[in-house]
Amino acid sequence: MAACILRAMSAPEKSISPLASPVATVWGVGEERAKLLTRLEIFTVEDLLLHPPRRYEDRRKFLSIRDLKVAEPATVRGKIIAAGIKRFKKGTRTMFECVFDDGTARLHCRWWQAQPWMPDWYAVGREFLIYGKLDDEKKPRTFTHPETELVEPGEDEFIHVNRIVPVHPLTEGLTARVMRSLVWRALEKFENEIAEPDIKLDLKIFPARANAVRMIHFPEELSDVEIARQRLALDEFVALQFQIQSRRKKFEALSKALPCSGDNRLMKPFLAQLDFKLTAAQANVLKEIRADMGGKHPMRRLLQGDVGSGKTAVAACSALMALESGFNVALMAPTEILAEQHFRNFQKWFEPIGISVQLQTGSRKTFEQSQITNRKSQIFIGTHALLTGGFDLPKLGLVIVDEQHKFGVAQRETLVRKGNYPHLLVMTATPIPRTLGLTLYGDLDVSVIDEMPGGRGAIKTFVRTTVKLLKVFDFIREKISSGRQAYIVYPRVEVADTDKDIKAVTKEFENVQRALNGFKVGLLHGRIKPAEKEKTMAEFRANKIQTLVATSLIEVGVDVPNATVMLIENAEHFGLAQLHQLRGRIGRGAHESFCILISDAQHPEAQARLKILEETNDGFKIAEADLKLRGPGELLGQQQSGAMRLRFGNLAKDLNLIRQARELVKK
Ligand code: ADP
Ligand code: MG
Repeated sequence: MAACILRAMSAPEKSISPLASPVATVWGVGEERAKLLTRLEIFTVEDLLLHPPRRYEDRRKFLSIRDLKVAEPATVRGKIIAAGIKRFKKGTRTMFECVFDDGTARLHCRWWQAQPWMPDWYAVGREFLIYGKLDDEKKPRTFTHPETELVEPGEDEFIHVNRIVPVHPLTEGLTARVMRSLVWRALEKFENEIAEPDIKLDLKIFPARANAVRMIHFPEELSDVEIARQRLALDEFVALQFQIQSRRKKFEALSKALPCSGDNRLMKPFLAQLDFKLTAAQANVLKEIRADMGGKHPMRRLLQGDVGSGKTAVAACSALMALESGFNVALMAPTEILAEQHFRNFQKWFEPIGISVQLQTGSRKTFEQSQITNRKSQIFIGTHALLTGGFDLPKLGLVIVDEQHKFGVAQRETLVRKGNYPHLLVMTATPIPRTLGLTLYGDLDVSVIDEMPGGRGAIKTFVRTTVKLLKVFDFIREKISSGRQAYIVYPRVEVADTDKDIKAVTKEFENVQRALNGFKVGLLHGRIKPAEKEKTMAEFRANKIQTLVATSLIEVGVDVPNATVMLIENAEHFGLAQLHQLRGRIGRGAHESFCILISDAQHPEAQARLKILEETNDGFKIAEADLKLRGPGELLGQQQSGAMRLRFGNLAKDLNLIRQARELVKK
């Protein structure tokens, strides 16, 4: 994908680059190999040249087998002096083993489950390069499942030895050696065609692109690899920024802003009836929004604010500006529960000041086209059904998208195109690390609510193992006895045969009822009918239900200030950002809140992740940590991260490069 953006960047009058020719133009790629290469998404010469190695081997000097050290991966070179298949009496397990000799010592290599081709390939007398590591000090020295490469003396030999060589990601039927030769030949033939992109980099700081491509495959020193990677990553980020910024430019040229800055006629009575005062952070953000909505181009603003920071009130005030100016407003939420919650809030807030509030979700059609066109100023609230409902929202002045990360970029665009370029406000509670913000939302301006409303109790977080569950339930009982409420979250709806250790709501619901008998327990998950869901939520809000057993469905937006306990089992099955979101359901009232994460995960990394939540409540810190630990997929959802696949760029650590790219493109 990076490659195709780069291609798209070159001016149209230029003839198509030879790099775009099919990979079969590289000597050694016939029909069959071309087919294998497509499995690696290599279609053109350029794809091949930009196929990043997965690791490197320093073959300038081989280690002697005698000098191999335990647990230190190394490459040795040896001839096979014996080979054969071992069969084990019980069962069908087989093992292929061969013995290499390099004149200093012998090395046994073994592969479990011998493959039919092995005896021919690993024939006595053949010479191989072997990459692996000793598991222990025991003799004979043994590698298990090493990577090997047949030494075939010939004209190509210099590509594979006496240098640092790349080992590329492979597919069955394609060896590391073949891949390396293909890349080498492609470089020989096409290196001169690798041009600098239209946006020029300072070549005193970065190697030329052509050099970087050679260096990433055949570095002189291992330290060259990172230099080359940075250059190629920068090209990717430049291409991405170029795309983002030209999309924005095009949009601005096309669109004229609707005048929506309002006159405070509704805002004043609204703020007067509100049972709190806006925080300074909320007021600041509103100033930015008002400036946008009265500006030349339609607003395109991302509002970031940690869970509970009060984004809904900001959305309401923004809506009022558009309504005061005589336009309608659409507010889109990712789930029905959330849409309904917004609906209730806005009804409470807006109907007293004469604004009609309409709800449209997938399951319930509550308004008809005729109704829409008849009424005066109104706000439409719904799920993605607002997009697919098949009706026009007339006089649309402002579109608000809540919890943005659950929507794809494409969906956002569709909604905006519904009207005559309305203003757009997207709100997200997932604090997006700046690297992602600049790439994914580079076409949006960003506002941040960086202050929590006062008068909230603190949230304390604890990580515990299942051994402590009984005590935890005693604790929950104590809290709900004193009038508070609790959430209990499990990763699954139903127990899966494949992994019985992962708890599921449908099964645990009964256990929880037993453990908390005398109190009412509700159940909430994706397969429950909407009407029932709504009823359960209403009862929970009214404290008729004291404990809600749920899946991560309740992750976004749900607002019940009296709930102060959150128990999450199998916590290691959730992403950090997601756990933080879940935790945001508590700590909304004046009482102190408690989040208990249950996990028996042994893996030190899993434990370290959960520990971060114990240590901080800062959503940005947590998001950065999550990005480093799990990559962008977790934060963005599959759809969006798919569109972001970078070959060389790394969103977790390339903030600097992304900034540079942004500046370069702006210039
Ligand atoms: P989020 O940013 O997670 O969407 P909400 O908008 O749901 O947060 O707000 C969380 C809670 O804080 C709500 O109960 C809301 O009424 C309350 N709230 C919002 N702004 C303020 C404020 N300035 N002072 C006090 N409470 C506020
Ligand atoms: Mg919200």
